Amino acid sequence: MPDTNKSSLVACPTCQKKSPWSKENPDRPFCSPRCKLIDLGAWASESYSIPQQTSEEDEIFSEDLIINPNKSFL
Ligand SMILES: [Zn+2]
Repeated sequence: MPDTNKSSLVACPTCQKKSPWSKENPDRPFCSPRCKLIDLGAWASESYSIPQQTSEEDEIFSEDLIINPNKSFL
């Protein structure tokens, strides 16, 4: 058997704290669920910032969505 019992330490991506890479740590490579959520939140905020670059297309689409329903209702 390979040395599976030998727990290797990994640095938490959020707080850089060393935590054991083992089955007992379901949040690996994070040291805690809190750090895992922080990292997911940072990732989500980054993804939300991307659509802002295509704001011109969003304006065009939203304009059509606003005008067309008004015409159909009138
Ligand atoms: Zn951490």
